[in-house]
Amino acid sequence: MKKEFTCIVCPVSCNLVVEDTDGVLSVSNNQCKRGMRFGENEFKNPMRMLTTTVKITGSTVKRMPVISSDEIPKDRLFELVEMLYKVTLKSPIQRGGIVLKNIGNTGVDIIATRTIKSKIREE
Ligand code: SF4
Repeated sequence: MKKEFTCIVCPVSCNLVVEDTDGVLSVSNNQCKRGMRFGENEFKNPMRMLTTTVKITGSTVKRMPVISSDEIPKDRLFELVEMLYKVTLKSPIQRGGIVLKNIGNTGVDIIATRTIKSKIREE
């Protein structure tokens, strides 16, 4: 079986060709070893970082940008983003704080990427 992928490890965006010959993978068209690793992983079990935003109350902003602490299986991204759409945070939140631990039993946490302070009341 042969598959083609665009390498997303760096901006060069090589067009990788990954071929499975009796369970042995070979990667071609890569310009470096990182592309070879990416091609093999993409063929076997593609992984991605998850980035999105989560609702937040008690602040002047309405959504908090978040990122996963590690890569997550690509085929679970939509399910996990749906899970995050149901979460509502309460300010204040510190950058680097854990928003959701072990999301979907992946062993990966969801982390706040900025500090959001509470809204200061004007009287
Ligand atoms: S194969 Fe290497 S040079 Fe090509 S896009 Fe991937 S990381 Fe960049």
